[in-house]
Amino acid sequence: MGGAAALVGLGAVTRLGAADAPVSAGAGSTKQPFVLPKLGYAYDALEPHIDAKTMEIHYTKHHAAYIKNANKALEGHPELASMTAEDILVNLPSIEEPLRTTLRNNVGGHVNHSFFWKILSPTGGTAPTGDLAATIDRDFASFDEFKSRFTEAALKRFGSGWEWLALKGGSLIIHSTANQDSPISEGEWPIIGCDVWEHAYYLKHQNVRADYLKDFWNVVDWDQASTNFAAARAAAQA
Ligand code: MN
Repeated sequence: MGGAAALVGLGAVTRLGAADAPVSAGAGSTKQPFVLPKLGYAYDALEPHIDAKTMEIHYTKHHAAYIKNANKALEGHPELASMTAEDILVNLPSIEEPLRTTLRNNVGGHVNHSFFWKILSPTGGTAPTGDLAATIDRDFASFDEFKSRFTEAALKRFGSGWEWLALKGGSLIIHSTANQDSPISEGEWPIIGCDVWEHAYYLKHQNVRADYLKDFWNVVDWDQASTNFAAARAAAQA
């Protein structure tokens, strides 16, 4: 398929301005060609909750592969070259198949993982504070109730996917996506996300996703979550 045929028509593409782009809150620049964002901590920094080998493989193999595949798919499409990763995820319906599915999976994989590394921290595992804490209490009754519902939903995600705390229409919601689908594609703003693909936990937790989720809560960076929440609210009101 030629480049021009990849789009229904450039006019159909809704370009987002910097102010309203649902930036992957902390992922940094996602201009093409995509590159691995710097990891803010060592592979072993999240031990014992997430093991060093899993982090290394997850980051250098899985995330890198999504980037490589996304860049390769975009090579032949100069008409899409000015789009950021987020632009692409928001505008997937205007991109023709089979490119759409390739980008959905691989650009989605890049954005989701860039977001995920930032929501984890060796000093995480505390609790939300400020506006985010108040809004979690408002929308889920309590932090404990939120954690319980998030964990339950993450356990129910069949196969590979992600669990998200996201802002949609002014409310916080718990939302599960399949494969590398991004909440950005559904008009939602991610606040925290948990990768529940087996590659995220199999070396340490084997098949026991519930144990991985218990460990996940010990490394969630609630300061970053607050940053994501503030950015999402500001952008949603812009
Ligand atoms: Mn992953």
